[in-house]
Amino acid sequence: MNTKDLVGIGIGPFNLSIAALCHDSPKLDVAFYDKKSSFCWHPGMLLPNTYLQTSFLKDLVTAVNPKSPFSFLNYLVSKKRFYAFLNNDRPAISRQEYNDYLQWVSKQIDYLNFGQGINAVDFKNNQFEVHLENHDQPIQTRNLCLGTGKRPHIPQAIKAQQHPTRCFHAIEMANQKRDFTNQRVTVIGGGQSGAEIFLHLLSGYDGAPSEINWISRRSNFLPMDETCFTNEWFSPNYIDSFFPLPSSTKYDIVDEQKLASDGISESTLKSIYDMLYEKRVNGDEQNYRLRPNRDLIASHQSNGVVLEAHNKFDGSTEHYHSDIIILATGFENAVPHYLEPMKHRLDIRDDQQFLLGRDYSIQWDGPAQNKLYAVNAGRYSHGISEPQMSLMCWRSATIVNDLLGEDFYDLKDDCSFVEWNNPEQRVEQTQKLSA
Ligand SMILES: Cc1cc2nc3c(=O)[nH]c(=O)nc-3n(C[C@H](O)[C@H](O)[C@H](O)COP(=O)(O)OP(=O)(O)OC[C@H]3O[C@@H](n4cnc5c(N)ncnc54)[C@H](O)[C@@H]3O)c2cc1C
Repeated sequence: MNTKDLVGIGIGPFNLSIAALCHDSPKLDVAFYDKKSSFCWHPGMLLPNTYLQTSFLKDLVTAVNPKSPFSFLNYLVSKKRFYAFLNNDRPAISRQEYNDYLQWVSKQIDYLNFGQGINAVDFKNNQFEVHLENHDQPIQTRNLCLGTGKRPHIPQAIKAQQHPTRCFHAIEMANQKRDFTNQRVTVIGGGQSGAEIFLHLLSGYDGAPSEINWISRRSNFLPMDETCFTNEWFSPNYIDSFFPLPSSTKYDIVDEQKLASDGISESTLKSIYDMLYEKRVNGDEQNYRLRPNRDLIASHQSNGVVLEAHNKFDGSTEHYHSDIIILATGFENAVPHYLEPMKHRLDIRDDQQFLLGRDYSIQWDGPAQNKLYAVNAGRYSHGISEPQMSLMCWRSATIVNDLLGEDFYDLKDDCSFVEWNNPEQRVEQTQKLSA
């Protein structure tokens, strides 16, 4: 079998975008693998009335190749929905529709392989060997792109006790039929997923719970900041300014920018408030509690699960008796198990973050021409946009250009109004380069 130019591990939106751009620049021999039997975008969170937090124009390809057959607009035209879409004039598209778009793209690219999980990756004889589950022969490739997403975060207070029958992560929500009728349900987490699940429970889609608690350690149920200057953090210029900063500075900046990516959509907050108001009008307001400013500190079993929380507002301790606990507690970095054979060769920080170069490749002790690119891994190297889809296609094109060794996609973009770096330093740098 030929040695590939690139093997992509995992086919979520991020590697799908790279696959689509490779299709538009057909000089590369590539293959992508996913353990799922077909494409599906976070199926456990495909709840009714959930919406993308990103413009549909920031699709897999448009920002770098608007002529691509894989654009969202081409999808609409192919599905004969272009005019209906415009007439609908929605501020955001539904996650169901976005998933349908991604599936539509995935069915047109023949080097995507589903139902084929990766077990292990190693580097031998100057190439990577990719071992598939249920295959004897490894695939050989000069470069890899890791796109297997992040691991659900389970808070220590829950991890310590484990309540497998009563507790699950939000990402599992729609993976099975649920019945919350007469259950005391507690949702932990004040981001978008927590809000969507609280709304879902309030709407009674899966039966009417006897009690719904929504607790969060944030100071309130806070909106996502989608204003124009905040959105400049999601532009290519910003990455250029951010990347060279010292690591400790980057951590501080990203933590301060949290609500630009992890806040709740204003429309979701409004839907929740509307529903609470209608319940009040109807005299039905006994069974839900919204409790921000609470830190989960412990859990134990006693007629269900008792959660203990510290109320940071008044300093007291509270208890939540729950039959079901839904953890909308986000995701964390973890080095994928398939890297075990060559983990010792990679630069990995104590917090399990890879050290990434500007080209999104992990620093390692192997030959410089063999790269392990990683997507959704650079929040603290490239900035707040990394786990989001805003710059997905620009990042994909950066990687494809790097593989091709040429500027196949024109990525120059000087759109920013904000100057992040000291302009005097920039002049000095330019002078040094031209000397
Ligand atoms: C519910 C939800 C909604 C979101 N909404 C938005 C939004 O509106 N806007 C935005 O910008 N961002 C959003 N995000 C954040 C981000 O864009 C998504 O998480 C996105 O799916 C990340 O893409 P990914 O390709 O890195 O990983 P994933 O989508 O997680 O895909 C990883 C893939 O890797 C596969 N895989 C894992 N291990 C293996 C293995 N060993 N072998 C083979 N395959 C493997 C998995 O099956 C999966 O298909 C959202 C996140 C969530 C959870």
